[in-house]
Amino acid sequence: MAERLEIALVPIDGVDPITIAWLKEDLPTILPARVEEFPPLPLSPRHFRNERSQYLADGLLSDLTPVIRNGTMLCLGITGVDLFSPGMNFVFGIATTGRALISTFRLRPEFYGMPPKPKVYRWRILTEAVHELGHALGLPHCDYPGCVMYFSRWIGDTDRKGPGFCYRCSKRIEGLGMADNGGFQ
Ligand SMILES: [Zn+2]
Ligand SMILES: [Zn+2]
Repeated sequence: MAERLEIALVPIDGVDPITIAWLKEDLPTILPARVEEFPPLPLSPRHFRNERSQYLADGLLSDLTPVIRNGTMLCLGITGVDLFSPGMNFVFGIATTGRALISTFRLRPEFYGMPPKPKVYRWRILTEAVHELGHALGLPHCDYPGCVMYFSRWIGDTDRKGPGFCYRCSKRIEGLGMADNGGFQ
């Protein structure tokens, strides 16, 4: 991995600003990166699907394209709206080479009928952000349930794995460039 990885944090209109502050502080504890906050991007109504009251994740991800300045910069969009991707009822996030997007919608304990717990919420946001950034760097899913690159089918998977890479994935990330890896959820 490039020694000086840069992450552009892009708030999408309506997202809670505290989540940006948390990520600025937390991401460098996991990824050796400089994190920079970018101006917010509008939430485009053309990605909303009335029949399911969700936004098309792939559409929001493609809106992030213009903010990529060069190949060493990863872009991470954060939205508060619920996301889906074709073939999936919902996604916590989505990524493609150089670009990642997460939604905080299903990360709040309140979504599951639990009392608010900022520490849990913050931990989940970091976990999902690192997972999608891992994909944006070219990492596939990992079979080890304790690794951040394990695929989360539900919030319990996210809570179990946490934001850390397993040994194998951290070794992989050191050796990776920005090779084209298709798309990931
Ligand atoms: Zn792993
Ligand atoms: Zn994934």
